[in-house]
Amino acid sequence: MLQDRAIERSPSVSDEVKFTTCYMCACRCGIKVHIKDGQIRYIEGNKNHPVNKGVLCGKGSSGIMQHYSPARLRKPLKRVGERGKGEFVEIEWDEALELATKWLGDIRATDPRKLAFFTGRDQSQSLTGWWAMQFGTPNFAAHGGFCSVNMAAAGLYTIGGSFWEFGEPDWERTRYFLMFGVAEDHDSNPIKTGLGKLKARGAKVVSVNPIRTGYSAIADEWIGIRPGTDGLFVLALVHELLRADKIDLEYLVRYTNAPWLVIQDPGASDHGLFARDSDGDHLCWDQKTKALVKAKLPNISPAVVGQVKLADGRNAVPAFQLIAQRYEGDEYSPDAVAARCGIDADQIRRIAIELAEAAFDQQIELDIPWTDWAGRKHEKIIGRPVAMHAMRGISAHSNGFHTCRAIHLLQVLLGSIECPGGFRFKPPFPKPIPPGPKPSGRGYKPMQPLSGMPLAFTMGPEDLLLEDDGTPIRIDKAYSWEAPVAAHGLMHMVITNAWKGDPYKIDTLFMYMANMSWNSSMNTKGVMEMLTDKDPATGEYKIPHIIYSDAFASETVSYADLVLPDTTYLERWDCISLLDRPICEADGPADAIRQPVVEPDRDVRAFQSVLLDLGARLKLPGMTKDDGSPKFPGGYPDYIANHERSPGIGPLAGWRGSDGKEFGRGAPNKDQLQAYVDHECFWHHELSDDQKFYKFANQSYLKFANHMGFVGSTDQIVLQLYSEPMQKFLLAAEGHGKVQPPEHMRERIKTTFDPLPIWYAPFEEALVDTEQYPLHALTQRPMIMYHSWGGQNAWLRQIIGRNKLYIASRKAKELDLVDGDWVRVHSHNGVIKVQIKTMEGVNADTVWTWNAIGKRAGSWTLAPDAAEAKSAFLLNHLIGELLPKDKMGKRYSNSDPVTGQAAWFDLRVRVEKCSAGMEVSEPQFPILPRPPGLPEAPTLNRYGSIWRKSVERAK
Ligand code: SF4
Repeated sequence: MLQDRAIERSPSVSDEVKFTTCYMCACRCGIKVHIKDGQIRYIEGNKNHPVNKGVLCGKGSSGIMQHYSPARLRKPLKRVGERGKGEFVEIEWDEALELATKWLGDIRATDPRKLAFFTGRDQSQSLTGWWAMQFGTPNFAAHGGFCSVNMAAAGLYTIGGSFWEFGEPDWERTRYFLMFGVAEDHDSNPIKTGLGKLKARGAKVVSVNPIRTGYSAIADEWIGIRPGTDGLFVLALVHELLRADKIDLEYLVRYTNAPWLVIQDPGASDHGLFARDSDGDHLCWDQKTKALVKAKLPNISPAVVGQVKLADGRNAVPAFQLIAQRYEGDEYSPDAVAARCGIDADQIRRIAIELAEAAFDQQIELDIPWTDWAGRKHEKIIGRPVAMHAMRGISAHSNGFHTCRAIHLLQVLLGSIECPGGFRFKPPFPKPIPPGPKPSGRGYKPMQPLSGMPLAFTMGPEDLLLEDDGTPIRIDKAYSWEAPVAAHGLMHMVITNAWKGDPYKIDTLFMYMANMSWNSSMNTKGVMEMLTDKDPATGEYKIPHIIYSDAFASETVSYADLVLPDTTYLERWDCISLLDRPICEADGPADAIRQPVVEPDRDVRAFQSVLLDLGARLKLPGMTKDDGSPKFPGGYPDYIANHERSPGIGPLAGWRGSDGKEFGRGAPNKDQLQAYVDHECFWHHELSDDQKFYKFANQSYLKFANHMGFVGSTDQIVLQLYSEPMQKFLLAAEGHGKVQPPEHMRERIKTTFDPLPIWYAPFEEALVDTEQYPLHALTQRPMIMYHSWGGQNAWLRQIIGRNKLYIASRKAKELDLVDGDWVRVHSHNGVIKVQIKTMEGVNADTVWTWNAIGKRAGSWTLAPDAAEAKSAFLLNHLIGELLPKDKMGKRYSNSDPVTGQAAWFDLRVRVEKCSAGMEVSEPQFPILPRPPGLPEAPTLNRYGSIWRKSVERAK
């Protein structure tokens, strides 16, 4: 009887509340964790936190089920059976660390390159990269290379920052918001709240995405573009704006390299490079004095068009002239690109008009005096209320680097970067362009650290990591001619290259939080075979040792020789550092920590502390004192508080100095972590109003950024519409300079490197028979999941426990398919069997599904016959990590040729109806056994029952 049930109107939710930072996706929102009877009862958003301001999403709330997941590993494991069979014994930590130290120590003493250290979606890359540097291996990267390095690199080489962690739309003032191919688990809460603000103010939201889900579903206008053609669409908008003279010329002259003179001397070794004076300074043509002058002088009137004679008699033109000449050409007209993009030409023309109207007719003026880099005073801040955002959807194509650059070109032409209503940088961005330093890896030696960090930024061919004979130095071939600007490495190529011994064999593959035998790999079946393949001559595995650290029994655990169990995010200290991937907002820098809100109930250790322990055992510099004792005996929290990357600069910016009164720069503070705990686990500094806009040219901001160590000087950061590093790589392919690509790669470099954004057909599309594979195939990230973690979460898997292949209704009709049919999907790399669902909101030439829902039977402590294993599926089996052979007979990695970004979304497929049969997705693989110590898959989730009983007892 209802009246007999006790209804608690104000229940006592918790005995204790602890602040920390969410890790259920990459946003890093502030949370309050309610603890009752020593258990996690409830998670709430922190209203004061700069990222989420109290908002908590479904993933964040479900962190409870992540923490109590039955798939949590419990103790270090050592493989005892054949690799891949999941046969382990539990061992003590000392044995585990001694074994790892032995393997790693042998490598370090002989050839440190033989350690390949690759992490997944970890949030401690400034530590892991630094650890690799101290070890002396160039073979380090995190997951950026298979996620969105095109986005990051294109931004950093063009405007000194990029979307998401580097900047954000001015949600308060934007009038027109253009969003491209977003991954809805990246920047999740901030975008949702931002979109809410736009909708409330009546700003127009336009989504360019082949699939209308999530954010696209609430857009005022959805442009269901054909995958891989976004760059053409954007350049057609540029064409229209240039032809209509709707560009912000004053902005271009003040803040960009549009007036810089570019040498025009075809065939010369410096053709297409910037003209410089004897001091090495860029030149422009001053219209007032009718002379060549340094472009950086403040009171000049630079020309943006017109041919100029240089001192040596050669010709040069301003970069803007090259921009105008290229994009005013007919090949970029809406009529020329419309069919290829699957968009009506009139729609492109209308969008261009709307952008121009919003930018120029709705100009914003803020009455805030500010001073520019040259000391010139300005009474107002002018804003152009057009903002853009893009993510993985455009990034994960083999033409993604140029597409991302095209979007930045469009924004800059409108004058809408770093102004009110536009796209705003989050400190520490903008950075110098590109930010530097250069990647380290040459001169690796036994027992020596590298001279710098393995991942960084090349400025030209001389910065590539190549042996004297041109062999790539890195196992993933990052910074070789296959990916010269590979700022995040090529994680998707590590296993294939290591298995092949190309460019050399490795000894140990050390991975953290990277599900590389399943949803994080292309060619998943092939990768599983490579991980277990043995050298027939020796009977040893081709990849001799695999060490893996994870908190959960993912598919990859079964392929490890040694498993180091990590804690959950609610059981450890952690830092979200300005040295890493920060959580700042446009109005000021911020950083944060995680603190353990409960102690682990298993024999697990935080990976970061384990890494420091290993470093001390290996006597790595930076982790060992002069007397040979560990420098950070207190593990990661000790490192967070006491490590200095450069004098006064450490992982956390807040409460520095011996008395904790400094921020940014200051001596380590032994009480720093307590200060963070006392301040809800985050630090935030609000910029003054006159520092908040035009940060790349704002004297007061640049002085602040220089003090904080964000930039090395207070010089203006000039936006690079014309990219000289790209031209240097192009010149090398044309036969200039000491470092040139091998003969067979020259054509590829010539057609894909350009100082201005270009568009070319995605590689897979160009290499396969598109009649045989007529459809594009994509994944979308469900906003309620984060990679493979979400699919094991008892609450989240109730929302999406299986995925189907979505197909446009009219395409399904053409193929004689109806909802619920089972189909085989073929690609050049393989075939899968899946069930379909028809829908309207999808580009007619595209099929898609949710990412990372499918699980291998037996993994993640799910029942072997769980829907995730039997009905759900991965597209990964269809995607090759290698492209089909090109006309020279070479197979290149399935990557962007500039950055090495994994081209997940270039996939082409054919869909065929299956005859009736077993309704199980294919391929299926042998069931993985549960690692020792893990419970059986529960059939019923009893979370909360202990408190239910306490309520009943109290009655
Ligand atoms: S958006 Fe991400 S970080 Fe924020 S609450 Fe949701 S899962 Fe957590």
